[in-house]
Amino acid sequence: MKLTFLGTGTSMGVPVAGGFGPKNTSQDPRNQRYRCAAWIKTPQRSIVIDTGPEFRLQTLRAGIKRVDVLLITHEHTDHIAGLDDLRSFNYAQKKPIPVYTSEQTEEAIKHRFSYMFAPDKTPGSVDLDFRPFTETVSEGDCEITPLPVRHGKMTVMGFRINDISYITDVSSIPDETAKKIRGSKILVMSGLRWSPPHPTHFTIPEAVEVSQKLEVRQTYLIHMSPFVDHGEVSRQLPDRVKLAFDQLEVSV
Ligand SMILES: [Zn+2]
Ligand SMILES: [Zn+2]
Repeated sequence: MKLTFLGTGTSMGVPVAGGFGPKNTSQDPRNQRYRCAAWIKTPQRSIVIDTGPEFRLQTLRAGIKRVDVLLITHEHTDHIAGLDDLRSFNYAQKKPIPVYTSEQTEEAIKHRFSYMFAPDKTPGSVDLDFRPFTETVSEGDCEITPLPVRHGKMTVMGFRINDISYITDVSSIPDETAKKIRGSKILVMSGLRWSPPHPTHFTIPEAVEVSQKLEVRQTYLIHMSPFVDHGEVSRQLPDRVKLAFDQLEVSV
């Protein structure tokens, strides 16, 4: 299976509109970050995690031709604002797209995008099929397991897809979830910035420490702020932890 990082930036994207951020920004293209999303491709399934504001641009850039399954981590705007751009996939695929997320996020999406779910909705609206997701489900050649984590006071859904675990916007990991992550070949986890600590996100040093406890072979960090310079921070990380960057592809 192949994992493609569609976006690795924090909620405002990097660089930030309006100029907030470091004064002397490096020209390293790995410091240009769309909002967080990922694409997992297996022989039988094309799975997208999150549809943020750049979703359309991300699908074009990565060459995504189908979305067989959609996984949504939570209802913050940087993770769902591009939901409407699934319409073109519905047109081509001619059936609803199965969605796995938490009940809380499903409710929030139905409220925020109520026009998609109205009984008399406009023909051509996005057609989503929310499925129950409290235990492992099978989708073709993929086993998908819920990995709920804490994002401050909120619960965010993470996902283990075969040997890849993906958790974002995380500030603590319940023991039950940690057990399910153990043994993954790849862990994708958010690490906002080097310092100071943040109430709803792990810092990079916190994420490095947590990844060691989870005993995974390789960790990739995402959801990084404009103050994370790829080259500079990468030099300070152990081999088993890397900063992801947009368009990075990893085969498992
Ligand atoms: Zn976020
Ligand atoms: Zn969030």
